[in-house]
Amino acid sequence: MRDENCIFCKISGGEIPSKTIYEDDEFRVILDISPATKGHALIIPKDHYANIYEMPEETVGHVMILAKKLATHMTKVLKCDGFNIMQNNGEAAGQTVFHFHMHLIPRYEQDGNGDKLCWNHLQLSEEELNEIYEKLKQ
Ligand code: 5GP
Ligand code: ZN
Repeated sequence: MRDENCIFCKISGGEIPSKTIYEDDEFRVILDISPATKGHALIIPKDHYANIYEMPEETVGHVMILAKKLATHMTKVLKCDGFNIMQNNGEAAGQTVFHFHMHLIPRYEQDGNGDKLCWNHLQLSEEELNEIYEKLKQ
């Protein structure tokens, strides 16, 4: 499953060269071209899925297992102080390349990104919290 116009299909298929730090039958893991920190890498499935909603559960599982393995390895090699594993779905969530990818972001004390990437904290009332809670609980 490939999308002819997709840059990550071309990169994961090896058509466009990349700094590949890991590869198997299912995934290619590359260094991000515009990294948040030193070592920022992307796990890219070789099959084209635009986002997590399109991806089979089995593949999602494999991504998480690989993320754990690589985070462990990268933490040892890079001697980083922490690690963010994150993944964006949809423009509103910051996705810019519409081929699923998982960000592996080594974190260092004073790396300039603050103690958390991306979000502010809302102050919700008990009523607002309950409204969300009623919608989401299963
Ligand atoms: P998103 O915002 O979609 O979650 O993340 C896309 C990521 O892909 C960004 O961090 C961006 O720097 C990276 N990226 C975009 N194009 C390329 C490319 O051609 N090569 C590499 N190595 N990374 C890319
Ligand atoms: Zn693709």
